[in-house]
Amino acid sequence: MEKTYKIKIWGIVQGVGFRPFVYRLAKSLNLRGWILNSTGSVHILIQGEEEKIKKFLDDLIKEAPPLSKIEKIEKEEINTTEKFIDFSIIESKESAGFNFISPDIAICDDCLKEMRDPKDRRFNYPFINCTNCGPRYTIIEDLPYDRDKTTMKIFKMCEKCKEEYSNPESRRFHAQPISCYDCGPTLWIDGEKDSNIFEKIGKYLEEGKILAIKGLGGFHLACDATNNKAVKSLRERKKRPSKPFALMMKDMDMIKRYCYVNEDEEKILLSKERPIVLLKIKDLRDISKYTAPNNKYLGVMLPYTPYHHLIFDYFPKPLIMTSGNISDEPIIKDNDHAKEKLKNIADVFIFHNRNIAHRVDDSVVFVENKELNIIRRARGYAPDPIKIPIKIKPTLALGGELKNTFSLGKDNYVFMSPHIGDLKDKDTLSVYEETIQEFIRLFRIEPEILVHDLHPQYLSTDFAEKFKKYMVVKAIQHHKAHFFSLLLDRKITDNIICFSFDGTGYGEDGNIWGGEVFIGNLEEVKRIAHFKYFPIAGGDYAIENPRLIALSYITKYFPSEVENIFPHVAPFEKEIIKRLIEKNENIFYTSSCGRIFDMVSALLKIREHIDYEGQSAIELEMHAMESKEEGHFPFKIIEGEKIEIDIYPTIERILEERKRKNVKDIAKKFHNTISQIIVFISEILREEYKINKVGLSGGVFQNRLLLKTAIPLLRDKGFEVFTHKNVPTNDGGISLGQIILGKENSIK
Ligand SMILES: [Zn+2]
Ligand SMILES: [Zn+2]
Ligand SMILES: [Zn+2]
Repeated sequence: MEKTYKIKIWGIVQGVGFRPFVYRLAKSLNLRGWILNSTGSVHILIQGEEEKIKKFLDDLIKEAPPLSKIEKIEKEEINTTEKFIDFSIIESKESAGFNFISPDIAICDDCLKEMRDPKDRRFNYPFINCTNCGPRYTIIEDLPYDRDKTTMKIFKMCEKCKEEYSNPESRRFHAQPISCYDCGPTLWIDGEKDSNIFEKIGKYLEEGKILAIKGLGGFHLACDATNNKAVKSLRERKKRPSKPFALMMKDMDMIKRYCYVNEDEEKILLSKERPIVLLKIKDLRDISKYTAPNNKYLGVMLPYTPYHHLIFDYFPKPLIMTSGNISDEPIIKDNDHAKEKLKNIADVFIFHNRNIAHRVDDSVVFVENKELNIIRRARGYAPDPIKIPIKIKPTLALGGELKNTFSLGKDNYVFMSPHIGDLKDKDTLSVYEETIQEFIRLFRIEPEILVHDLHPQYLSTDFAEKFKKYMVVKAIQHHKAHFFSLLLDRKITDNIICFSFDGTGYGEDGNIWGGEVFIGNLEEVKRIAHFKYFPIAGGDYAIENPRLIALSYITKYFPSEVENIFPHVAPFEKEIIKRLIEKNENIFYTSSCGRIFDMVSALLKIREHIDYEGQSAIELEMHAMESKEEGHFPFKIIEGEKIEIDIYPTIERILEERKRKNVKDIAKKFHNTISQIIVFISEILREEYKINKVGLSGGVFQNRLLLKTAIPLLRDKGFEVFTHKNVPTNDGGISLGQIILGKENSIK
């Protein structure tokens, strides 16, 4: 019996070889009809014997292309007298609904093999790609995903490419960025005409020059990582004194010479996302000490575009590959802008003429306890949707102030922007506003609800104010957003105890929160415990100067120790802090766990001033990693309306031990103490509320040593432990949590 069905498929089904796959499948089963791309879905009309249609549908799910992700299939039988004689791919059409966009994909093995084949017409072609790899999000100007809606539209396909593009048997059938030497983009060194630019690039790197190289989602600044002078001067020119630089290495062999790599890390390094993976240093060998000062990890990635591979042909050494920007400004994506902005940093510019529609930084991840932790979610991951276990109205969540991302969601999907950066920077703010507009346009989601952080001084709060006339605007407390971010990320629908240990966020009582314990679920959340508030004098200045945090605490609680601990500090500095603490002026009270790490780091003289966010806690962790100390310090739990965790006894013991013990052991004992606090509080709450799930969310949990000590302890006590998986635990993840206020009848 002949039947005809109309089939609609939603998910990542565009730009991943889905239509050619369906075409080949239908042909192999002698079925007829058509397939087309629509907004956010593909539509299929299939006609033929019922048995075969059944097999078609089975295979469609079982054998779908590796990069596709089917979210939903709808099938409907239709009555028609129309007889199709063949199966074809027909023109795309627009329709209502929302879109899915594939992230960019690293060059695949097939393309790499072709590129290395001297007999292939794309031998050493820097822009080789196919249906399974290459640029996506970064070249898409609009949807449906067709070449004339990408930045490839200016390149007219040559006859040979056109042939491959239209041949269902080809690996490049309907590969939108298809190109070759005759018809595609070109790469050049600014101001130079050279036949072998890669040889020239190798020579410049060898000479210690700093190169601005246009990549997939923006410019990189590159130099020879083994050249001290070059790395040092890159630091000076980029105004980045000590924040670690990322490296690109030729292959796994090269990486293993410098770093320890376990099986999970290797898999992620080689994955189609190709993120920067933080790897423990085995031996720095010839790599410059300026690459990652005071750090035990290197951020390393493998080449992910064809031309990255070609660069290593003439320069087989580790490369510094850091974002092309000054300090923390947005990554630069356009040739002219790069030349203007980076003229005082780069000696040489490598340009290409495939425009970048959307900028995207490299992603940064690490593996701990065999689990992937994303520190920066960008290239390769964004804008893959995050499926959530609740339904929301069209909602835009504006994110936090640092490490900003925003999220746009509808129904049970959330599209999180790639990492945007620090909104205090005015260029970043304009990129933020521009990317929000682009997301609304591309994903066809008109927000009805706008969610921002409770902080009255955040720029995103200002931004939200402007929209009050047009839509519902809601605010959510920062650490509650961390809580919901974890629940949505891990699809946790029942009760959980959640530790939101973080830097700082504006609290509902006007104090600065950051060491919070919540219990709740997707319906309600309750703050149940927190670190006891302590005063910090000096306002925002103290955040950059952890010494002031320590000085404030000691002045307040151990006044007789001030002279002892801070003999090197000018008397007027001590006097000012003393006066502010006494008069309770220019002081904020905080429960921030991140600030406690800062304080301990300063008390141990590990770091008194920082030049990048998180530096003092990172260096404290690095010291602790060298100790085998297993003990912990005392702490006090005050039970009241809310449980308060008082670290007075901890600090008291640190002050005492610093006189006789080495700082590494004290640093380690402090980490153990925070782990013990987590376990202790979890046990109290399990007893009282009968909850066995424990969640960890917030910037403090980027600390790998803490994860390594706390998680096994919790598991030993029988707890089920949850950390983030798809979004960062730091403020890059909070926009996902904020989206909860888009829920119908949503909680506060
Ligand atoms: Zn490929
Ligand atoms: Zn061509
Ligand atoms: Zn936070």
